[in-house]
Amino acid sequence: MQPPLPVDQALAIVLAHCRRLPGEAVPLAACRGRVLAEDVVSDLDLPLFTNSAMDGFAVHASDLAEATEQRPVWLPVTADLPAGPSEPGPLMLGTTARIMTGAELPPGADAVVPIELAHVAGGRVHFATAPRPGANVRPRGEDVRIGETVLRAGTTLGYAEIAVLAALGRVEVPVTRAPRAAVLSTGDELVDVSEVPGPGQLRDSSILALPAQLAALGVDVVGAWRAVDNEEALVSRLQGLPNVDLVITAGGVSMGDRDFVRPVAERLGEVYFHRVAIKPGKPLVFGRLGEALFFGLPGNPVSSMVSVDVFVRPAVDALLGRSDGGRLRLRGRMAEAVRSDASRCEYVRVTVRADADGQVWATATGDQGSGRMASMLGADGYAIIPEGVAVAAAGEEVRIELF
Ligand code: AMP
Ligand code: MG
Repeated sequence: MQPPLPVDQALAIVLAHCRRLPGEAVPLAACRGRVLAEDVVSDLDLPLFTNSAMDGFAVHASDLAEATEQRPVWLPVTADLPAGPSEPGPLMLGTTARIMTGAELPPGADAVVPIELAHVAGGRVHFATAPRPGANVRPRGEDVRIGETVLRAGTTLGYAEIAVLAALGRVEVPVTRAPRAAVLSTGDELVDVSEVPGPGQLRDSSILALPAQLAALGVDVVGAWRAVDNEEALVSRLQGLPNVDLVITAGGVSMGDRDFVRPVAERLGEVYFHRVAIKPGKPLVFGRLGEALFFGLPGNPVSSMVSVDVFVRPAVDALLGRSDGGRLRLRGRMAEAVRSDASRCEYVRVTVRADADGQVWATATGDQGSGRMASMLGADGYAIIPEGVAVAAAGEEVRIELF
């Protein structure tokens, strides 16, 4: 039998089989979480016109160059400029205009004195400080210039991107089609969450957890089903799945008598590898079923969740062409010693904190057995203990990947 593949080699095989999906146009209001399929080049200056950054008085800064507390300068108010549709006439030298935030600056004016710093008496305003030219003015194009590439293809769209796209008038946005996935949990021992487990039974966690985890990655989960541990039943389940980009099964990939996922995947498609030197999650089938990528994840919910993080997540990023999906990686130290399986790269679930000096410390979330679903609870990330290391001592430096 082949030895288990190192994590990076297995990941390279996965990525070699991923092709970016085609683009589609979606309404701006529905694009949150989607991935931009094309660069966005601005055809506008933002702001669209030079405007006031404050409620106050538009002035020629040169008129107030000598203004001080002792020798204030008085200017007559010649216009009132609220925000909104208007085309202000030029501001004459030696005059001021009342102006509100966002209102277009009158031609000639080059500074705004905030209302708090001006003293209004009758039709005149008294200025006791000299503004610098450009003070409290937002010049046209200072935010975004016409012709500028504001967003790159591969960017995940969140509220900040939506704000800019709205300002640019993009009512539709080109995004990559979301990968469609079908989830299949396997196991004769599994019952639905709504059922009371009988002897030897347990509730099916993965039929709900995997779709939730995949949805958070931007995957469109078209359905989740449960299959019994029977070869022909598995074959007909897999053959009956709707058209998808990803088929993801949980369980049935080990060496047990009733672990049929790998032989069935070999029968119906191709298998590129089936074991990885990772803990949790050594048995992991990766292959292809027709056009779909196939991931046969191990059954323990922790193992399947870690496998999704390590292998499915990068695959989804590649299908989406996403450039910002990677997690923050940093170096820190183990706060307490943790044992590791030296024959595998271990993904220890940890809480992470920084001390007053900025030193990052990771602490394992208790026992790391792959049957311990609770080891994922409250975790901030993984401490990644490489192959060949049997103990990461307290204080030892480790690689950390934050959730
Ligand atoms: P398997 O990979 O099928 O050998 O399953 C490994 C372990 O994970 C067994 O103890 C299973 O009962 C458990 N398991 C498998 N699938 C699920 C699931 N969907 N939800 C909860 N536990 C599961
Ligand atoms: Mg099983």
